[in-house]
Amino acid sequence: MALASWTNARNTGLRDRRDRGTQPWRPAPRWGNDQRMALRNQGKQLFADAQADIPEALLAYSKGSYPASRFADAICVCGCRTFLFATDDENGAAERQCTACESASLIANSAEVEEEMELVQSECTCEGDVFELTLGLAVYTDEPGATRWIYVGARCVECSLVGCYVDWKCDGDDVEALLANA
Ligand SMILES: [Zn+2]
Ligand SMILES: [Zn+2]
Repeated sequence: MALASWTNARNTGLRDRRDRGTQPWRPAPRWGNDQRMALRNQGKQLFADAQADIPEALLAYSKGSYPASRFADAICVCGCRTFLFATDDENGAAERQCTACESASLIANSAEVEEEMELVQSECTCEGDVFELTLGLAVYTDEPGATRWIYVGARCVECSLVGCYVDWKCDGDDVEALLANA
């Protein structure tokens, strides 16, 4: 797997949150006027200054359904934090490829659907294709070690647009194991 097998498609990644019946994003009250806002809302789009802001964006996306509460940044074995990546909405899967060493890795439990997955390479609305990635997990309230839903957030390093690019249901996979596979 990896780049050669991905399909190219423009703007397929970002989803409109309205599709999921969630409320529009509002800045949290703790962001007073005297503080620099990390997330900026322009129209329906969110922009963020740093990878550390991706969890807020994933929470905004997920809070109307199964809120993401555990997060892990994607970091390559070589230490690099920027990736090309591709998603499969249908089967629920994502794969990233390091921009430095080109090693590829399936995100979270994507390997479970490796046989049938059809990955489409993600591209930002600015046509940038290099992203910082953060995995977000929703857990079962009565079983915080079990994963209920998986979210993959991305921030375009070119224009700072941030959002959830793919999410899928999970039947209780171990939270720590998935976080180790961001
Ligand atoms: Zn690498
Ligand atoms: Zn962009």
